[in-house]
Formats: sequence, C-alpha cells, structure tokens
Amino acid sequence: MNATTVKTNLLGLTRTELEAFVANMGEKPFRARQLMKWLYKRHVADFDQMTDLAKSFRAKLVEVAEVAVPEITLTQVSADGTRKWLLAMNTSEGIKQGIEMVFIPEPGRGTLCISSQVGCAMDCTFCSTAQQGFNRNLNAAEIVGQVWLANKELGYQHGGDRVVTNIVFMGMGEPLANYRNVVPATEILMDDLGFDISRRRVTVSTSGLVPQMLKLAEETNCALAVSLHAPNDTLRDELVPINRKHKIAELLDACWVYVNKQNARSITFEYVMLDGVNDRPEHAHELVALLKGRPAKLNLIPFNPFPGTRYKRSSAAAIERFRDILNANGVIATTRRTRGDDIDAACGQLVGRVHDRTTVRLGSKLISVAVQ
Ligand code: SAH
Repeated sequence: MNATTVKTNLLGLTRTELEAFVANMGEKPFRARQLMKWLYKRHVADFDQMTDLAKSFRAKLVEVAEVAVPEITLTQVSADGTRKWLLAMNTSEGIKQGIEMVFIPEPGRGTLCISSQVGCAMDCTFCSTAQQGFNRNLNAAEIVGQVWLANKELGYQHGGDRVVTNIVFMGMGEPLANYRNVVPATEILMDDLGFDISRRRVTVSTSGLVPQMLKLAEETNCALAVSLHAPNDTLRDELVPINRKHKIAELLDACWVYVNKQNARSITFEYVMLDGVNDRPEHAHELVALLKGRPAKLNLIPFNPFPGTRYKRSSAAAIERFRDILNANGVIATTRRTRGDDIDAACGQLVGRVHDRTTVRLGSKLISVAVQ
C-alpha cells in the first residue's frame, strides 16, 4: 500500500458494488451485508467496532476503505424546527465549497432535503442557487453521506423511531444532470440493507431533463417531481431555460411514460408562485388544460425571495385563487407551507458557497471563467 492510495468511501457503494469490493479483498459476499448492517442499521463508522468481522479483515479495511461524511461548517435551527447545515466539500482547486442540506420536521414525518451538485448550471431565473453558478457534481458517497450525517446529527438511535422518513433531492443542483451518481445513491437509500426508505419516499426533483427522465424510468423506481413553473412554452422558456431544449409537451410525455413504467401513482409538479408572472387565473386554466385527467399533483410553492432577485412572492389571495381554480377543475393542487425561511432554508434559498466554474450557463449562454 503506498501513500497515494485513495481509500474507497464505503458510503458510495451499492450492495452489488460492495460485494464486488469485498470479493476483491478475498472475502465472501455476505461480508458486504454485514458491513451494510454496521453502516446503516447500527450507524457505526469505525471498523474496529465491527466485532463480527475477523480482525484480519478489519485491518485490511482500515488500509483500503473509509466511512467519510461531509464536514459541517454551520448549523442553523429555525423557529419552526427546520434545520439547515452548511457542509464543506473539497475541490480539486483546494478551495472549500459549500453545499446545503435541510431537515424539515412535520408531525409523523421528517423530510431531508439533500443536494446533488455544488451549485447548479440550469440557470432558472427565480432560483438563488442558479446565481451561484456551478462547480461540480457530488459523488455517490457525498450524496449518501449527507443522509448518514443527518441521522447522526438528529440523534437517530439503533432500534428507535426513524427521524428521517423522506428524502427529497430538492437541495442544490439538478440531480438528473448528475445521473451517474444520483442513481446509485437512490439505490442505497432504498435498499433494505441500506437506509431502507420506501420508494415513494425518495423523490428526485428535476427541472426537466427529458432523456434522463426516460432513462430513470427504466433504471430505478423512486418518486419523481418535476419543476414545471409555467403553463406555456413562452413563459417556461424564460423561467426554466432547459425548456428551450425540451418543450412542455415533450416533458409531459416523459412524465406519463414514467408513471406507466413505474406503476407510480402520480408525478408531483412544482410551481413557484411569482407575483404577476405566472400566477394569473388564465395561467391556472392553461394548467388545467395540460394536466386534467392526468396522474398529476400540483405543488404550489410561494416564491422565496433572495437578495438581488427581480421577482416577488404572489399574494396569499392570488395563491388561494389559483389553487381554487385548479381544484375546481379537477387538478389536485396544494400549497407548500414555507418552512425555515428565517434561516434562508426555504426552497430556492440554498446558496451554499460555490466557486463558479461554469463555462456555459443555459439561460444566458454566458461564457465565464472561474471567479473566486
Ligand atoms: N434542480 C431540481 C432540484 C431543485 S428542487 C429542480 O429544478 O427540480 C428545488 C425546488 O424549489 C424546485 O422546484 C425549484 O424550482 C424551486 N425553487 C427554486 N427557487 C425557488 C425560490 N426562490 N422560491 C421557491 N421555490 C424555488
């Protein structure tokens, strides 16, 4: 073993990959299952404490493997109990990057909102993460590591009630732009030897990367949420620039394919309520025309402002009127309660600390160089 050997972070390995990993070490596949029990059921990261593994195997593991989680830079707790962590991520430039993770406690459930990228390149005009630019994808271990860390921070005890019952990929980043790492991570979250979270409680949210949505329909079975935000292409081209490539009709077709393939109940559509932009009654009627009779649920998100934004949140009356039109016309719509906004932990307020390395931003086709 030489000094330059990079240890494998076991949190990034699916069951099959972990079996291959231990096989490579000359061990039987069931050792992988034992390891997973220590990691995910007993929450033990220290190989020395894994007492049913042979001492010789443990000694080898220390050489080649590690269980590493992101480092917490800042923890904030909202008046409503929402928690936000700023997590440090390493980069090749040696500059510390920040991503954010949010825990939202509700009666009977706890939702953890995790990040999939440092920053985001999708350039949606109303999202503060977009302002930060994009640095890099997180690897599977960094994604799973967030959940592992949250469980630890929230005091999860082996045998006790779950604290994190739902996972949503609604933190920083576009998960389907990081397909290669997000898919194995979802596998570990849903694996009964992993976090054992049911497939309906692991939600990948996308701004609409159609080819990846179709691939996801074939390869996984987690829940899907789609950031729609506009009822017609003219408006969506402006708000969600990926729409210029994949129009609403194509996006919705992919959604219905997903539901059929997955035998899922429905797709959740996210719709941010922007004052005077997409919140008028005619927009609600356009949405009805798109979604009526379809396996769709609409989640209205009151816009969360951030410094420098040109948008304003729709009034409570406008949101209510919008929701009523949808519901009266057979489209199920609910309003997402704003949580954690006193600590900037609400949707679209996650900025972390990103060292922008974007070369092409979707919205502006802006060419930029790295700025510190
Ligand atoms: N890139 C993925 C994951 C981000 S999810 C996606 O686009 O779906 C975060 C959700 O919050 C998305 O629906 C996003 O559009 C929404 N959002 C972004 N900025 C917001 C803001 N300022 N106020 C309210 N919601 C916002």
